Amino acid sequence: MDETYQGGCLCGGLRYLARGKPINERVCHCRLCQRAIGAAFNARLLFAKSQVTVEGDTTTFNSSPDLKRHFCPRCGTTVFSERASTQAYAITCASLDEPERFRPDMHFWTSSRQPWVKLDDGLPQHPEAAPA
Ligand SMILES: [Zn+2]
Ligand SMILES: [Zn+2]
Repeated sequence: MDETYQGGCLCGGLRYLARGKPINERVCHCRLCQRAIGAAFNARLLFAKSQVTVEGDTTTFNSSPDLKRHFCPRCGTTVFSERASTQAYAITCASLDEPERFRPDMHFWTSSRQPWVKLDDGLPQHPEAAPA
């Protein structure tokens, strides 16, 4: 039985289905994610673009030349970001229909972690980008 992940935006106009296991599940504490999502961090599941089917329109914004944020044009939920160089989609964990399935394996950009966020889960922490 293939593993699948489904989810979408707040209004339901944008939905996705991801097939198979995520490449990784990580929490990004960078300022760009914080601002884009309006939250203290971005807990996201990385999939190859080829694993993901998207239904509905997205509006996009490039927060860096390589990274495009996709959000719902109606309700504004940031559902995933797309990295051009790796052809990958990073899906926000809270947009999943079953967000409790998120299993983080790492924190990165912890140099800009919000001071009130206490990390005591024992996972690796990287002050800047995750190592390749
Ligand atoms: Zn929406
Ligand atoms: Zn980030």
